[in-house]
Amino acid sequence: MWQVIGQTRAVSLLQHSLESGALAHAYLFVGPAHVGKMTLALNMAQALNCVAAERPCLECVSCQKIAAANHPDVQIIGLTQNEDSSEAKLIGIDQIKDMQHSASLPPFEGNQKVFIIDGAELLSIEAANCLLKTLEEPADRMTFILLTINDRLLPATVISRCQRLELPPLSTAEVASALVDNWGIDSERARLLAGLSHGCPGWALSAIADDSLLQQREEELNRLLDVLSAECEDRFTYAARLAAQFGQNKGTVYEVLDLWLDYWHDLMLVKIGCHDIITNIDRRDRLVEQARGYRLDRIKSFIKSIQSAREQLHQNVNARLALEVLMLDIPGKERGGEGDLATVSSIRNG
Ligand SMILES: [Zn+2]
Repeated sequence: MWQVIGQTRAVSLLQHSLESGALAHAYLFVGPAHVGKMTLALNMAQALNCVAAERPCLECVSCQKIAAANHPDVQIIGLTQNEDSSEAKLIGIDQIKDMQHSASLPPFEGNQKVFIIDGAELLSIEAANCLLKTLEEPADRMTFILLTINDRLLPATVISRCQRLELPPLSTAEVASALVDNWGIDSERARLLAGLSHGCPGWALSAIADDSLLQQREEELNRLLDVLSAECEDRFTYAARLAAQFGQNKGTVYEVLDLWLDYWHDLMLVKIGCHDIITNIDRRDRLVEQARGYRLDRIKSFIKSIQSAREQLHQNVNARLALEVLMLDIPGKERGGEGDLATVSSIRNG
């Protein structure tokens, strides 16, 4: 009864380890945000403590307590609530020391103590070194599950103590059919959410639970379209506003750039006739109309500009400068509004 969507390889490996008793003391689940790392970790914690024959059953008291975050032997360590969402915050050594204290005691009511470290890439150096000592001397009846979006940010010594499992993004079709089959979402909406989730079903489920996510996307897309038809001065005002936002919350600006990237990627797909695999399917008509106005090489080169702006922001260059350069790189519309077609016919006629 594994609840994680897809990830058959990771699930069958864990299932096999459970059945054969060949369990690791520590696991490292690597995959993008919302792909299902926490769901899989909780299912594993349930399986390790489940009293049924087929584990995890999700029905026994133990499974239910874990699902309700109410089991004394299963602990989640991550950024504390009020630190959430802002950058440069780390999981501190005190949190790992508290965990070690708890690890020194036997399981309270279950078979196994399970410690899930969410966002292991955020462990401070001291915290990682402290954790390493525990991983090097594993005690019985204790399992550690580290979750990370990027294991290159973890010390090699920590990685080497864990069994590494990769959780790759799913295909759009896989997410869409799970949304239809398991959550009863209508197929058109499921396809849109699946595309926007980039293979990470947790994002789609959040968007189903919270309308504001799609609302924000809607507003941001409209802003993007306004910027494309705006004068230079208004584009710079937009860049300045984004740069100021970057100072407050980097994540939201990366999300905006990802949305730009998706939109221009869609324009490229429409341009080459691949309408079926675009992300923004609810904007198909507009995309088709707009794609006529741009040449394919200009679209491709602007996609590179967005990627490069994103990289520069990661490298801490002046955010306003990087975003202003991006605004200057927005391709101009071809005269006649037919893009390549206009070019082709002018060559033919000329
Ligand atoms: Zn159970």
